[in-house]
Amino acid sequence: MAGPDFAELRRTIPLDRVLEYLGIEAKWARKQMRGKCPICKSKIPRVFAATPSIGLFRCFACHASGDCIELVARVREISKYEAAKELQRTFNPP
Ligand SMILES: [Zn+2]
Repeated sequence: MAGPDFAELRRTIPLDRVLEYLGIEAKWARKQMRGKCPICKSKIPRVFAATPSIGLFRCFACHASGDCIELVARVREISKYEAAKELQRTFNPP
């Protein structure tokens, strides 16, 4: 079986659904979702920003950034490959 297609996952999985799936609480503010960072667990509110329209997130405290695969990998502390497989299983089952 072929491995997960990273580009396809990035293109097809809405970042806001990944936040919801990971249990990250964030509130919409214009085109962004802002909340506490699930990676560095900074107590600063709204330090974490996800922009579903472009599929990217960023934390202004720990400077983590990336796409939905990177987010799952960082939050779960697993490899990007494992994260991509998890996203594939959850959002794009065959
Ligand atoms: Zn952070």
